[in-house]
Amino acid sequence: MKLALLDELARRPLLGDGATGTQLQSLGLLPGACGEFWNTEQPDRVRELHRRYLAAGADLLTTNTFGGTTFVLSNHDAATRMHELNVAGARLAREIAGDRAWVLGDLGPFGGLLEPLGDTPAEDVTRAFAAQAAALLEGGAEAILVETMSDPEELGLAVRAARAAGALVVLATYAFQKSPTGFRTMMGTSVPVAIAAALAAGADVVGANCGTELSLDDYTRLTAELVDAAGATPVIVQPNAGSPVLRDGKISYAESAAEFAAAAPRLLAAGARIVGGCCGSTPAHIAAMRAMVKN
Ligand SMILES: [Zn+2]
Repeated sequence: MKLALLDELARRPLLGDGATGTQLQSLGLLPGACGEFWNTEQPDRVRELHRRYLAAGADLLTTNTFGGTTFVLSNHDAATRMHELNVAGARLAREIAGDRAWVLGDLGPFGGLLEPLGDTPAEDVTRAFAAQAAALLEGGAEAILVETMSDPEELGLAVRAARAAGALVVLATYAFQKSPTGFRTMMGTSVPVAIAAALAAGADVVGANCGTELSLDDYTRLTAELVDAAGATPVIVQPNAGSPVLRDGKISYAESAAEFAAAAPRLLAAGARIVGGCCGSTPAHIAAMRAMVKN
């Protein structure tokens, strides 16, 4: 019988899944197209992606809903399809996960800037995140994953909105990059400030995903800083498979599955409790990590 996610996490480290966007592109999604449309138009391909990650040994399946806020969907004239696309995305992952994995309902950035830096009021963003989280929970997600955030205020709005929508477990991660003053988000936020905001908002698990120009060694150092900042709260790290490089007109990623497998014990030794992959990582990367993340 599957334990509640946080109980299980207290017992053993867990393995996330890998990239969604770059994998959907390998299954035929065109660059710039709306991947969330596939939750209703190409459900078999989305199921196939989840099935590959489950077969690779992932304990957590992430829904194909990263760009599922009304804000991002409106770029594809599909804001009115928000509920349908998120419910469908969660159902597809839940169907494949069965009792072998937990489903993380994925919330990505809304794609703009909050007032006063930008022109979007916090209330509008909160409403959008709450509606998306509610749809994901309705579709069967057991937790909400707020990811690839740069602005601690936006992350806080998303975490609180997910909780208000009824999420029992909320994970929250930032994308960091290197700067002369250490790891910072794109908005310039340091690790301690970023993580303090996530904890203040009530996130159950905090950490990092994606990131710009970060090697797996950088990720190991970043993990130690995240663990320091997180205190008793579990840390999740999901690196990219290196930085994207253009080869023969195609985007590829530098880090191999073997390099991911070698990094997994270092990330765990640095204190991570959940490891997985972000952009460019594949079922092969997750399978290689599985061998290094003991049940
Ligand atoms: Zn990524």
